[in-house]
Amino acid sequence: MSLEGKVAFVTGASRGIGAAVSRKLAEQGAKVALASRGEDGLGVGLGLACDASDLGQVEAAVSRTVDEFGRLDICVANAGVGSYHAFLDTPIEHVEEMVDVNLKGTIYAARACLPHLFERGEGDIVAIASEAGRRGLPGEAVYCASKFGQVGFIRALDHETRERGVRCTNVCPGGVATDFALAEGYGRPESVLAGMMTAEDVAEVVLFVLTRPRNHRILETAFRPMTEMSWG
Ligand code: NAP
Repeated sequence: MSLEGKVAFVTGASRGIGAAVSRKLAEQGAKVALASRGEDGLGVGLGLACDASDLGQVEAAVSRTVDEFGRLDICVANAGVGSYHAFLDTPIEHVEEMVDVNLKGTIYAARACLPHLFERGEGDIVAIASEAGRRGLPGEAVYCASKFGQVGFIRALDHETRERGVRCTNVCPGGVATDFALAEGYGRPESVLAGMMTAEDVAEVVLFVLTRPRNHRILETAFRPMTEMSWG
């Protein structure tokens, strides 16, 4: 399946995984709206200033995308923040930001995009979730909570969208070398850091998900660097 002529809305597209996904989709012929708090199209698409945790801004950005490109086919809910602390040391503003951006941001992106996908009777919602959405990790209790929420939301939403032609997928990478993962407090040994995946590796998986024939859907993908343990 080709992405030629498809239109994608990507949150958190200014760097890291969101930027790599946006580039990959544009290379494959999609028109891409890149939404983040700045307004940078990175030379690959339409840059939209949008705080993913503000429903009004997300709705406005999705409307702008449809006005500009005339349709919407793909929503990639990628915007995310993390903070690595023991639970009681996690500043309350970090707690709120992780829930607001990672969890509510995914719900808002889906809420704004889904009516357009239903209108076409076809489309994809891809959440960039995490291994942290499938198992509890030390020093990441609130981040894990936000990511489990994201994963649960997408799993449940699938029940409402399948019969209307819209596929919902959780993409759950392990460690990816981005600003986010290498932030202060990320307590992985050097051997793990050296072997991390790249944002492009994740973009390849997203492309695979989006280009499956429409008679099936990928519900969830879990993939990890060879230097990370399976369940440790
Ligand atoms: P990153 O390099 O720090 O990029 C994060 C992106 O999110 C930036 O484009 C940032 O843009 C955007 N963002 C943050 N807050 C936002 C907000 N309120 N509204 C809109 N955009 C916002 O991080 P990344 O590693 O690419 O992470 C992307 C996603 O992958 C996250 O959901 C993360 O949980 C997930 N993930 C990452 C890893 C990893 O190891 N890196 C592993 C698994 C899953 P602005 O600052 O310009 O707004």
